Amino acid sequence: MYSVRCKYCGKRAVVSLRYAMLNLCGEHYLNYIISKVEKTIKRYRLVERSKRLLVAVSGGKDSSVLTHVLWSLKSKLDLEIVLFHLHLGLGEYSNKQERAVRELASLLAARPLIVVYAREILPGDGIPELALKVGRSTCSVCGAVKRYLMNVAAMAVRADAIATGHNTDDILAYFLKNLVFGGEEYSLKLTPRTEGLDGLAIARARPLYEVYERETLLYAILSKIPFVHEECPFRPERSIEEVNKDYLNRLEERAPGSKLRLARRFVSMVTGSESTIGEVLACRYCGMPSRSGVCTFCRLTSRVYGEPLGPKAVDIIKAKILESKT
Ligand code: AMP
Ligand code: ZN
Ligand code: ZN
Repeated sequence: MYSVRCKYCGKRAVVSLRYAMLNLCGEHYLNYIISKVEKTIKRYRLVERSKRLLVAVSGGKDSSVLTHVLWSLKSKLDLEIVLFHLHLGLGEYSNKQERAVRELASLLAARPLIVVYAREILPGDGIPELALKVGRSTCSVCGAVKRYLMNVAAMAVRADAIATGHNTDDILAYFLKNLVFGGEEYSLKLTPRTEGLDGLAIARARPLYEVYERETLLYAILSKIPFVHEECPFRPERSIEEVNKDYLNRLEERAPGSKLRLARRFVSMVTGSESTIGEVLACRYCGMPSRSGVCTFCRLTSRVYGEPLGPKAVDIIKAKILESKT
């Protein structure tokens, strides 16, 4: 019986990438993704200056794949990798995420791994309790707390950039959403690299910029890395991003390579456009970036707990980093 063969070794192909007209066996598929990420890192100069990256690992497929891929490129690209995981206090889901991250780190013998618990910073509360107390959605509070704590950790380890697991589909879905509903300042956020602010915020790098969501899932399965299969229990039903992803996949089906083309066009559209960040000041409590002199995290926590918890977060994270070195 006829079976499709891997372009590189002639073994039976398990993957067919239509946009690249490429059939690959499992092993060559993993190599293909690794070299695609290497090209992305070079093309968009994701790790130009120093090469220390804080890799934000959630335990889901994308950031676990990111960790695995970067670990494979570590010596070739002379990278220094610090893994960072935030336990958000979302019940059993967060426990599973933490377990997956710890398993992955031990599988790769990757060190250091810094694990921060939302409950140790927000006196006893997880993200849902905090969200309830501030009267905002869990997702928006979660996003704000994650961004803040990642930034604190990255500053504390003097990382050159924070690497996140956003894939092509995430980026395009978000881009389309902001094109329709958001202000221009938001559509500028998810490029392969977002610059930091001197002494205040760390650059963001998105090495999976040109890796499709289906490709990260396949990589996670074929490489047999531990990851949490379920979606976050707080994820909204039928979000705009999800609708956009469906549309983009139908477009891709009809015209393979469309998502990649759109992702690249997006970069050329926003390159050279004015940054709309405006003036940024150091938070008077914790020193992290803010618009008004008090950062979002310190403002939020002052309101709920009667004191800004930024300085406590900074101390806890610094202590964990010191501990990880001993
Ligand atoms: P999300 O905002 O949940 O779509 O996640 C975007 C990226 O943020 C992921 O790909 C990870 O790199 C990072 N991230 C999300 N959740 C966590 C977490 N709990 N701990 C560390 N990094 C995270
Ligand atoms: Zn092969
Ligand atoms: Zn602050």
